[in-house]
Amino acid sequence: MLNVDEALERVLAASQRRCAVELAACDALGLALAEDVVSDIDSPPHDKSIVDGYAVVSGDLAGGEAELEILEEVTAGDVPHHAVSPGKTIRIMTGAPLPEGADAVIMVEQSELVGDTVSSGGTRAAVASLGRVRLTPPRFTPGQNIMRRAVSMAAGDRVLAAGHELRAIELGVLAEVGRTRVRVIPRPRLAVLATGNELVAPEIRPGPGQIRNSNSPMLVAAARAAGAECCDLGIARDQPEVLRAMIAQGLEADVLVLSGGVSAGVLDLVPGVLESLGVKQVFHKVNLKPGKPLWFGVLKRPDGRGDTLVFGLPGNPVSSLVGFELFVRPAIARLAGRESVAEYTRARLAAEFTHRGDRPTYHAAVLHSGEEQATITPLKWKGSADLNTLSAANALACFPAGDYTLAAGEVVRVLKLG
Ligand code: AMP
Ligand code: MG
Repeated sequence: MLNVDEALERVLAASQRRCAVELAACDALGLALAEDVVSDIDSPPHDKSIVDGYAVVSGDLAGGEAELEILEEVTAGDVPHHAVSPGKTIRIMTGAPLPEGADAVIMVEQSELVGDTVSSGGTRAAVASLGRVRLTPPRFTPGQNIMRRAVSMAAGDRVLAAGHELRAIELGVLAEVGRTRVRVIPRPRLAVLATGNELVAPEIRPGPGQIRNSNSPMLVAAARAAGAECCDLGIARDQPEVLRAMIAQGLEADVLVLSGGVSAGVLDLVPGVLESLGVKQVFHKVNLKPGKPLWFGVLKRPDGRGDTLVFGLPGNPVSSLVGFELFVRPAIARLAGRESVAEYTRARLAAEFTHRGDRPTYHAAVLHSGEEQATITPLKWKGSADLNTLSAANALACFPAGDYTLAAGEVVRVLKLG
């Protein structure tokens, strides 16, 4: 039986990045870039003031203070019509281009108008002079309050590299460099199919022997949160012909996630049906708890559409979720062109913990990311069907196989839940 790392290696080896597509930038949030993005402009496009104030020649402030003649007022979006020379200044607003001759800006808060002075109110100065201003900065450094042209990026600079994941910030950068369309790796298309004669839809009150299908909504949501486009195929009964037809439909997706029917019961028909449809088994059973019966295989598609990855997750909801986190989420990340596949960390046990069992266990737990140190509290284990306890968890604590007791403060490996 494979251990989790070996099984994950095989899943990742089969998970090929999807082909790139071109999308509107606004539809690319969360996707990985499939191209380098180059700036078409300098940013800022000109030397600009980063405050509201007065553009000056540094020499005028050699004595620490100055009284200067105001030539004009420049607001953001406008351009200066005069140069600044000794004895003169231009009133300048944040973002406006620095006038020729000026090499520093003094904040408006460090100025006082002298006598009768007018403001042009943002329109082009109609008067030759706007009066005089006294500048009294407590400190002065030549070059102050100026952002130089192209310090953020120059035309031709690569601003984002292929593979970079597009967050809100990157959508801002794309807009800044004029890119409204981008080449990205699209979301993997995933289908979820629950199997089991005992299953009823959530809106139905279960009759004798029946339970509600909690896996489908959970797996659909988990897949969407992991960045896949997801389709719910509903419930397949444990009958070969029904399973065959519904699985065949699911094999059209990039990833088919099945729940149930992969253990050793008389109605665990999923592996046989998958193989009859040409899906090649890569592994069946992984050395872990919960979720040991997990089945993974690949359908090769000859038409260059890319393979379909098939995960047969065990039906118990906690097993299904653990299988999803360990194997399906990393596969989605790889198909989507993302590098990071799982978020493991380490934390100290908040209290003594006893592990018993011959398989490595992924135990529902609460991770507290304390200021100095993270701690982990395993929750009381009530079995693989206990989704309710899992809902209190934000992590899985990973315990190696064996019978042993760990003292409070011992360090354990932790997988954060997505
Ligand atoms: P199986 O893997 O099909 O043997 O199912 C294992 C256990 O999980 C059984 O107790 C099933 O009733 C339960 N189970 C299977 N599928 C689901 C599902 N979709 N939602 C909730 N429980 C399920
Ligand atoms: Mg079943």
